[in-house]
Amino acid sequence: MPPAPHQHCVLVIEDDHATRDSVTQALAGEDFRVLGSDDGADALAKLATIQPCLILLDLMMPRMDGWQFMEELRVHPGFSRIPVVVVSAYGTREGVRSVGAADYLRKPFEFPVLLDFVGRYCRLGCELEPGGSKKTH
Ligand SMILES: [Zn+2]
Repeated sequence: MPPAPHQHCVLVIEDDHATRDSVTQALAGEDFRVLGSDDGADALAKLATIQPCLILLDLMMPRMDGWQFMEELRVHPGFSRIPVVVVSAYGTREGVRSVGAADYLRKPFEFPVLLDFVGRYCRLGCELEPGGSKKTH
């Protein structure tokens, strides 16, 4: 039996369910596996068991916001290499890069632009995966 092909997995950290649902639908339509979290604390719990290729991160969230999440992410060596794209109406590209994010997409965004970001950074995350399992992309 041939090994299952790698399926890109994106973790969407976003407390606005309407936004999260539309992002999830757009990415699922492109064959991505999508996981959602309401805030940074829930996302960290999920990262203990799954390894996404890419994280899409909102900044303004209850409990643990995007800035706090980036701080937590950086102290976990296993997590810190997962590319993070901040998707928010707040912040700047320079600001989010200074806390370790790969890039910044300002809300409101166009879905083709989101898919372009995801395609680019998801592949980057896959190439960084340890163990060297055969990449299909
Ligand atoms: Zn992938």
